[in-house]
Amino acid sequence: MPFLMGEHWDCIVIGGGAAGFFAAIECGQQAPAGSSILILEKSSKLLGKVKISGGGRCNVTHHCYQAKELTKNYPRGEKSLIGPFHRWGAEQTVQWFEDRGVSLKVEKDGRMFPITDDSNTIIKCLLEAARSANVTIRTSVGVSRIQSVEETPSSVDSKNSREEEEGDSQVNFRLTASSGRGDSANDSVFTCQKLLIATGGTRLAAGAKLATQLGHTLAPAVPSLFTMNIEDERLSDIPGISVERALLRVKGSKLRSEGPLLVTHWGLSGPAILKLSAWGARELHERDYQFELIVNWLPNQDVATQLENTRTNWGKRTLQAHSPFPELAKRLWTSLVLAAGIEEQTTWAQLTKPQTQALVRELSEAHFPVTGKSLNKDEFVTCGGVLLKEIQMKTMQSKILPDLYFAGEVMDIDGITGGFNFQNAWCSGYHAGQHMALSLMATNI
Ligand SMILES: Cc1cc2nc3c(=O)[nH]c(=O)nc-3n(C[C@H](O)[C@H](O)[C@H](O)COP(=O)(O)OP(=O)(O)OC[C@H]3O[C@@H](n4cnc5c(N)ncnc54)[C@H](O)[C@@H]3O)c2cc1C
Repeated sequence: MPFLMGEHWDCIVIGGGAAGFFAAIECGQQAPAGSSILILEKSSKLLGKVKISGGGRCNVTHHCYQAKELTKNYPRGEKSLIGPFHRWGAEQTVQWFEDRGVSLKVEKDGRMFPITDDSNTIIKCLLEAARSANVTIRTSVGVSRIQSVEETPSSVDSKNSREEEEGDSQVNFRLTASSGRGDSANDSVFTCQKLLIATGGTRLAAGAKLATQLGHTLAPAVPSLFTMNIEDERLSDIPGISVERALLRVKGSKLRSEGPLLVTHWGLSGPAILKLSAWGARELHERDYQFELIVNWLPNQDVATQLENTRTNWGKRTLQAHSPFPELAKRLWTSLVLAAGIEEQTTWAQLTKPQTQALVRELSEAHFPVTGKSLNKDEFVTCGGVLLKEIQMKTMQSKILPDLYFAGEVMDIDGITGGFNFQNAWCSGYHAGQHMALSLMATNI
């Protein structure tokens, strides 16, 4: 099919999210004067996820300035991100916002937020930076089709005639976009020299399919960062109870995680569960989210010895009145004592050997049947996306088509909660933007 003429741009970024903005700004700042850069966003709102992120506060990045340490928070992408983070880590992100008048603060757990505690501060900053970098933005324009000019022999004539018309500017891609009115009469055509796909997570977004139109392969999308549904008497009366540190394992698997654990109305949540869900995203999906979770409520403690000591020293006290574990909320302790088949009024001296063993099991390896998952409302991401072996991680350039780039969650990279997913968006956006600018410079010399 011959190519139709369309609006021509030096660089088009598909997706007006964190990664797309960062790339467009960087490209606009570094590219030769007069370069034309366009963001196409299918929805009517820009930076929609930034707005709702972190409960409306936007957890911009994480206070971890060592590249290698930082990568340990990415179940997908860990090794591939070491190089990119060396050149654009959390420190550079913090400095970038600082240079534009946005100060970030660190919370106790390392998450970093704007000092205003308002995601609008980040949105305003990105919009202003895009304006200063002369980036043009169009909303309500969803790209539905991309063709690579090189890949279509029948297009060569029209490519040449287009080049003549455009002077030196190269046409490498042709995009068809719709205004979302469901009417092909409103389709617009764009052409460009450099193209960045930054369409976000691949689970629901058809955006990622654009990459497959250009020969790329997607790792199948499955949810990451979810909470676990458990119907169990031990938990049903104690929602809201948390422990600061629990060790979780999945029966019949190497999966494990450690951290704060929260009992909810529907099961278990908290950082330890979210971490487990991220590292186990694929494996747990394959098990259809039906598995046995083993909880150690008191990791690194010799529970049996502590129970024995309490029996010796506090024989006359009841188990209900005297728990040897101040780190367990009283209601959780009572629930586990009952689950071990022990009456609340039993004294420590009355505790039988089998009861003690049952209590040790409840405290340090309690089995819970997981029957499903719920999405974490504060932050959820997709595991899956464009295969990293098809991307040059130094430049975010496609290994299939050198004028094509990727950034953000559309790639097969995702992090645990804590600001890591935005850090990937800023970092990959930065590298893609830089390289697009450099190569625009090279072609325009
Ligand atoms: C509720 C929630 C809270 C979160 N909170 C945090 C947090 O606090 N910290 C953190 O690090 N991460 C957080 N995340 C994850 C983070 O938001 C994402 O990882 C990040 O937004 C990815 O950036 P992106 O630019 O790759 O994709 P997105 O932000 O998803 O942007 C992609 C954009 O592309 C557009 N698009 C898609 N297809 C097309 C198309 N065909 N044509 C044109 N445009 C298209 C989409 O409309 C979208 O605007 C949160 C996620 C959710 C859902």
